[in-house]
Amino acid sequence: MEFERSRALRALPPYLFIEIDRKKKEALAAGVDLVDLGVGDPDRPTPPVLVRALQKAAEKAPYHQYPLGSGMPAYRKAVAAWFKRRFRVALDPATEVLATIGSKEAIGHFPIAFVNPGDVVLCPDPGYPVYAAGARFVGAEPVSMPLLAKNRFLPDFRAIAPKDLKRAKLMWLNYPNNPTAATCDKAFFAKAVAFCRSHGIMLAHDMAYSEVYEGAARPPSVLEVPGAKDVAIEFHSLSKTFNMTGWRIGFAVGNPQLVGGLAAAKGNLDSGVVSAIQEMGIAALEAPQSLAKAVRSVYTQRRKILVGGLKKAGFEVFESRAAFYVWIKVPKGHTSAQYCSLLLEKAGVVATPGNGFGPSGEGYFRLTLTAPEARLRLAVRRLSALKA
Ligand SMILES: *Cc1c(COP(=O)(O)O)cnc(C)c1O
Repeated sequence: MEFERSRALRALPPYLFIEIDRKKKEALAAGVDLVDLGVGDPDRPTPPVLVRALQKAAEKAPYHQYPLGSGMPAYRKAVAAWFKRRFRVALDPATEVLATIGSKEAIGHFPIAFVNPGDVVLCPDPGYPVYAAGARFVGAEPVSMPLLAKNRFLPDFRAIAPKDLKRAKLMWLNYPNNPTAATCDKAFFAKAVAFCRSHGIMLAHDMAYSEVYEGAARPPSVLEVPGAKDVAIEFHSLSKTFNMTGWRIGFAVGNPQLVGGLAAAKGNLDSGVVSAIQEMGIAALEAPQSLAKAVRSVYTQRRKILVGGLKKAGFEVFESRAAFYVWIKVPKGHTSAQYCSLLLEKAGVVATPGNGFGPSGEGYFRLTLTAPEARLRLAVRRLSALKA
């Protein structure tokens, strides 16, 4: 018997990290001491105080039954309170907050609620691959919005072709950005909101890195723009803020129709976030600021080492103080893929080729800050030697 995968699944490029993982395994099998700066998964453990909150919650018998679909009222209230403190934006926990199983599934599932076959979904390029995958799964067409260095990796809305704009239902944005680490200001969000409103497009902002920044440069939420709630939904995650990628919890907030539609779609697919994990989420959101601050300062130190070292070696690095990525120009004479293969084979450093995030990522490679300082220093030495 032959079982052919769906057209949608076959239309997707092989998930980026699977490809890299294969090459990595080969090198490891050959005994190479790899410095893995490929995947953006925090290397440090979840703060013990949060693990203890989960352990205690796991013993509560009511939590052994199905959780409520949209999330426990207490979790949604904690989200609204955190959001108010952090962004000065009020949210109604009953209609404008939804618990999600991490944010990836919510991002991937969102089009099911609002996008039809043949619609266009505008996706940042380079960008997180899930935006385009979600579009494909509902038979829609992902159309890329190039993020270019000359625009500081912000999309140029005027460059969207009129024929695509006519069919566009949904636009994705992501700041602080993966993979470029670019940030945006509130004025840019105001432009995005006005643009989407005037063209009747839903605006979905992925803010997985809201708390990964340096110093006082706190990234804004799109919902800080007056009137943004008319068109916007924002996806948040506890994964990166609290080293919680393994626990799968996040939230979607914003326009009640958009939040409600996503809740309805998800209601047909899953039965909510594990209740004990929601309690862990409450503990994280209500924790003293020092918890997220400690996570931030680790990346600040690491960024100094990696960015400083690479610049000294002559690499062209995009300067940013947010997210945990470093976006670097591939030296002249190589493609992204060639150079990353070279890095793996000759320097034992795992990097992600920029074109894996979309055609506009060609000419770049991405390194992550999710490795200890000593490993980052080793990576700098190896890359410097290769460059010399
Ligand atoms: C890590 C990441 C996410 C989501 O991670 P979850 O663990 O599913 O919450 C979403 N968007 C971007 C851009 C990311 O890098």
